[in-house]
Amino acid sequence: MERLRIGIVGAGPAGAYAAWQAAAQGHQVTFFDHRAPWEKPCGGGITVKAQTEFPWIEEMAPLARRVHEFRFLSPTDREIEFTCPRDTLIFERKTFDEAIRVRAESAGALRMHRKVQAIEPMGDEWRLIAQDEEHRFDFLVGADGAVSLTRDALVPDFPGFQTSIASGFLIPAQLDRIETKFFGDSRGYLWFFPRQDHLSVGLCLWGGEGAAVKGRETRECLLELLQKHFPDLDPTSGKGYGAFIPTIMDSKCWKVARGGDNWALVGDAGGFVDAITGEGIFYALRSARALTRAINAGAPGEYDRVWRAEFGPELEKASQLVHRFYQPGFVERVIRFGAQSNGIRTVLADLVMGNQSYLTLRRRLQREILRAGWRRIVPMRKSLKGA
Ligand SMILES: Cc1cc2nc3c(=O)[nH]c(=O)nc-3n(C[C@H](O)[C@H](O)[C@H](O)COP(=O)(O)OP(=O)(O)OC[C@H]3O[C@@H](n4cnc5c(N)ncnc54)[C@H](O)[C@@H]3O)c2cc1C
Repeated sequence: MERLRIGIVGAGPAGAYAAWQAAAQGHQVTFFDHRAPWEKPCGGGITVKAQTEFPWIEEMAPLARRVHEFRFLSPTDREIEFTCPRDTLIFERKTFDEAIRVRAESAGALRMHRKVQAIEPMGDEWRLIAQDEEHRFDFLVGADGAVSLTRDALVPDFPGFQTSIASGFLIPAQLDRIETKFFGDSRGYLWFFPRQDHLSVGLCLWGGEGAAVKGRETRECLLELLQKHFPDLDPTSGKGYGAFIPTIMDSKCWKVARGGDNWALVGDAGGFVDAITGEGIFYALRSARALTRAINAGAPGEYDRVWRAEFGPELEKASQLVHRFYQPGFVERVIRFGAQSNGIRTVLADLVMGNQSYLTLRRRLQREILRAGWRRIVPMRKSLKGA
């Protein structure tokens, strides 16, 4: 196998995991990140499916908060509570990401605490400028998140690449479960993620034009909603944050190549986030793994085919369903019937654990809603007959 000089821009989960896996196979890896270690604005939730797919996450579990109880609140404030048979892990990102970076360094990757400022092709090589220093690589990996310099340099025209904006607070408060509140105008949702010693509260609104204005709008909307629905929480006692999440809703975006013979985009830089749940850490790791599998097989140019085969259809399906999923009527019905139906609560538990495919979700939920409705009608009919 040819030993490649690989330059990775960004050391979040995607960049750090790619660095770890490629260095472990003997490639000469340099990964750049001027912020790391830092608390990336994020819920930090790692689903059961991510833990199953990447068993090494279990070694980090003592650093996380374990949660298996959930509560959903509908647009009209109906509630549903359910318990999962396995825990979701909630990490502070500073700790989680750093644990992967340390593994990358132990495998031989070189970490550079530098910001990459410019990228250009030079013959068969890539030339990177990082804080006035020049670096040359055979293979370039863009792992620099939702707002990606590498993506702009490699794929300046990226039809349908969209982001949502999230605004939140890390509040010194405690909660035993994950809570999600949905709204009538279907533009987003509010979440409460308990962490080891604080609560991460956030609002995600679907993206669009004018991100700067949207940021302010999201923050104001979040403060209003907290005041209205959770007046006991004082967000100003905590630290505020705002960030972008890739939210691809346009199927043509999935047709754009995320890699070529000597370059690749992984994680948020490639838009690899579930548009329905906002889960991105799992796909950051999966895309990094797909890439390093292709590199380690001596065929880095195959990356675009590998990620499509491994997880392309599920992300595309989420993009197709996202608007229907958040229709207020649909969410309201699921929560209303779910409060009386074990079947619906089981579907929701499977969904948050990552064990329920989107391909069959709607059908399964509709079946359970019908069953729940039927169970209410039959006793009603019997009592009417007896009357
Ligand atoms: C508010 C919020 C809540 C979320 N909650 C969850 C959740 O609970 N669970 C989940 O799975 N996902 C969640 N996500 C999504 C998740 O945070 C991302 O999908 C995930 O972090 C993607 O990992 P990444 O490595 O691709 O990018 P990032 O984690 O964003 O890492 C990119 C890195 O690149 C670095 N970088 C950027 N530009 C440069 C440069 N020019 N030079 C050098 N370095 C650079 C940055 O400093 C950063 O460290 C959430 C996102 C947001 C915004």
